[in-house]
Amino acid sequence: MGAGKVSIRHVHKAYGAFKALDGISLDIQPGEFLTLLGPSGSGKTTLLNIIAGFERPDSGSLMVDEVEFITRPPHKRDLGMVFQNYALFPHMDVFDNVAYPLKLRGIDRASIRSRVMGALETVHMDKLAARRIGELSGGQRQRVALARAIVFEPRILLMDEPLSALDKNLREHMQMELKRLHNRLGMTTVYVTHDQQEALTMSDRIAVLDRGKVIQLDTPQNIYDHPNCKFVAGFMGETRFLPVERRDSGYHLDSRSLRLASEPLHRGANGWLIVRPERLRWAGNAQRDNRISGKVMDIVYRGDSHLVSISLAGDHEISIRHTGSEGKELPVPGQDLELWLTPEASVVVGDAIQ
Ligand code: ATP
Repeated sequence: MGAGKVSIRHVHKAYGAFKALDGISLDIQPGEFLTLLGPSGSGKTTLLNIIAGFERPDSGSLMVDEVEFITRPPHKRDLGMVFQNYALFPHMDVFDNVAYPLKLRGIDRASIRSRVMGALETVHMDKLAARRIGELSGGQRQRVALARAIVFEPRILLMDEPLSALDKNLREHMQMELKRLHNRLGMTTVYVTHDQQEALTMSDRIAVLDRGKVIQLDTPQNIYDHPNCKFVAGFMGETRFLPVERRDSGYHLDSRSLRLASEPLHRGANGWLIVRPERLRWAGNAQRDNRISGKVMDIVYRGDSHLVSISLAGDHEISIRHTGSEGKELPVPGQDLELWLTPEASVVVGDAIQ
C-alpha cells in the first residue's frame, strides 16, 4: 500500500461571515499518522472534508504527491474514509458493504472476493461476512467501516471521530488496533478527534486547532510538555494555571523567584505557570525553591491514585496526584500542605502564541 504526501497551503473557508478555516497550512508526510485535535467548532471536520473533496475551500491549495487536488472529485482522490456514524449500508451484509468501493471501481468478481476477505481478516471480521449491519455491535460496525475504507488500498486514510460512539474500554482497545493497523499498512492517516488522550496515544504528530487556525503542530510529547500557549496547555490533561510575573531577574510566583529548567518560549511581561497533578511533588526540607503552600479542599479516588485538590492564596486552585509511591500519607481535607514545583515541570506559557 503506497502512502501519499498531503500539502495544504493557506486554506480559507467561510460560511457567510463566519471563518471556519482561517489560513491553514500543513504538510502531512507519507505514512504519517496526523491528528487534528481541537474543541467543537474549531474546523477539524471542515478541513478533513476539504481533503476528501466534499467541500471546496474559498482559497488556498491542496496538493497530494505534488498534484493539485482542489478541483478533483472525491471518488478520484484515492482516499479511504471512516466517519463517526460509520455510514454503512444497513440493507447490505458485511461482505457487500466492504465490496462496494471495489464494485464502484469495476474490479472483477474473483479479485473482489479475495480482497474483501483479506480486508475483513485484517479487522478480525471475516467470520461475520454474511451478517447484516443491524446485527452487529458498535465495535463490529466500526471494524466493517474500517475494512471498507482500506479495501481498495488507498494512499490516504481519513477518519472523523471514528471511535466516539464506542464505550471507553472498547474505544481504548480500538485505539491500539487502529495504531497497529496503521503501523502494518503504512498509509498516510489524518485523524479527527476532540479527545486529547486519544490524540496523544495514537499520533505521530498532532495539529491543535482553534477557531480555524493551527495553533501548534508537533509530536504528542512536545505538545504535552512544551505547549506554545495557554490554550494548548489547557487542552492537554488536567491543567491548572498560576499567574506569574516577569521581572528582570526572571519569573516570580507570589513575589518569590521561580526556578525553571529552560528559558520559556514566552518572553512577554507576565505569563502562566502550567501545573499538572502528576508533575507536582510534596515538598521536603531539602527543597528551598519553587515551593507553594496550600490547604486541602477535597480528595477524589481515581482507582490508581487519589486526586487531591488544594486551594492557594489568591483564590487559586491546583491538584496533585497521590499514589502513595513517595511514602507520603494521604492528606485529609483542611490540612495545610507544602508542595514543590520541580524546575523540569515548571513551564511558563503566554496567553497567545509568541
Ligand atoms: P466538532 O468537533 O463539533 O465536529 P469541528 O472542529 O469538526 O467540530 P467543523 O464541523 O469543521 O468543526 O465546523 C467549524 C465551524 O464551521 C462550526 O462553527 C460550524 O458550525 C461551521 N460550519 C460547518 N459547516 C457549516 C455549513 N455547512 N454551514 C454553516 N456553518 C458551518
